[in-house]
Amino acid sequence: MFKITPQCSVCKKEIQANEEIFVKMRYPESKGMTEIKAFLQYQGKIICNECNEK
Ligand SMILES: [Zn+2]
Repeated sequence: MFKITPQCSVCKKEIQANEEIFVKMRYPESKGMTEIKAFLQYQGKIICNECNEK
């Protein structure tokens, strides 16, 4: 799903397969799934479940 190595942006832990994650990102100005996928790769911050609960 992600071309970059998935890593929690808070604790830098590597995200494991099937792990529940949260992604913090700005909603793209031009709406559409294509834009959202591109935004995830370039601007999305992945947060693991553990850090999100803190
Ligand atoms: Zn984390």
